[in-house]
Amino acid sequence: MKVGVVGATGVVGQQFVYLLQNHPLFELTELIASERSRGKTYRDACNHKTGLSISESIAEKEVNGLEADLDCELLFSALPSQVAGKIEAKLARDGLAVSSNASAHRLESNIPLVIPEVNLDHFQLIKHQKTDGFIVTNPNCTTSQLVLVLKPLEDSFGLEKVSVVSMQALSGAGYPGVASLDVIDNVIPFIQGEEEKVELETLKLLGKVKDGKIVPADIAISASCNRVNVLSGHLECLSVKLKEKTDVESIKDKLRNFNGLPQKLKLPSAPARPIIVMDAIDRPQPRLDRDIEKGMASVVGRIRKDVVLDFKLIVLGHNLIRGAAGASILNAELLHAMRYI
Ligand code: NAP
Repeated sequence: MKVGVVGATGVVGQQFVYLLQNHPLFELTELIASERSRGKTYRDACNHKTGLSISESIAEKEVNGLEADLDCELLFSALPSQVAGKIEAKLARDGLAVSSNASAHRLESNIPLVIPEVNLDHFQLIKHQKTDGFIVTNPNCTTSQLVLVLKPLEDSFGLEKVSVVSMQALSGAGYPGVASLDVIDNVIPFIQGEEEKVELETLKLLGKVKDGKIVPADIAISASCNRVNVLSGHLECLSVKLKEKTDVESIKDKLRNFNGLPQKLKLPSAPARPIIVMDAIDRPQPRLDRDIEKGMASVVGRIRKDVVLDFKLIVLGHNLIRGAAGASILNAELLHAMRYI
């Protein structure tokens, strides 16, 4: 299937291009960005150098604007949310399938917000979109890795309360992102809109489909989000209150054995193990552990009892892969396997 990336020159867009360049199901035919990039070669248009190895044929390809006649059926969107709303809606009206990373449509009632191992049944919302094409979304980078871990806890023990404190990497803010003079020797205890996104997206993802709508999960959730001086990989301190009594070993067991349809179908981007539990007392760490399972796993450690809620643990995920491009590509692989595209 011919696919394109819109927002191809950005931090997430370059990750998409890297992951799609030798993909077994998708052929990357369109690279699209803003007026600034139109007509340039992809190599010249990417002013932020990620160090990802891009093939010569793609590096030499011309970047298109959105007005071009697009030679693809599916578009991955890495657009800034401020512009994504209108552009993605138009692309869906024009008959394209859009797999989006942007937050613009995530919480709309007829738009699926999906993590394939968690809530693939939410794809059924597609039939309520009154367009020739459609839009599906993946969660915000902080939410993806969190909900992958919350799902087996909810299924096995029931979740009553969730408290999460994030330490989020700089690449999560795009390019040029946070000014170096703001973040060196510092932690910034505020990320615009992030805490609301984590809380609302989590409840939608863990919600149930009823009469063509999502009924959000009934869980009390509180998020505090911080920007830290790390390149990639968001680390989260998670505390949970569970409905049923359990112990640390049972939690480890449920997390280690968790998987879903992407693993059964062996989809190209599916990690063999979506959750990795580390036993070392000082892991996971962003620099050491973010690339486990090619950045598609939630890496968990330090599972222990908590005197305020019931248990606390550390969760790490790669914000550009499971938190962005990898998540969106896995959604598309599943849509392909389920014959939505
Ligand atoms: P970024 O580095 O700022 O890249 C933005 C991209 O969008 C660039 O390719 C830019 O093209 C293009 N663009 C901007 N305005 C456009 C327009 N009007 N028409 C066409 N293209 C336009 O941002 P990012 O960090 O990659 O994030 C992209 C999206 O993913 C955002 O919605 C973000 O919230 C979401 N997201 C990011 C992460 C992460 O960890 N970074 C994780 C999850 C989700 P030019 O280069 O030509 O300006």
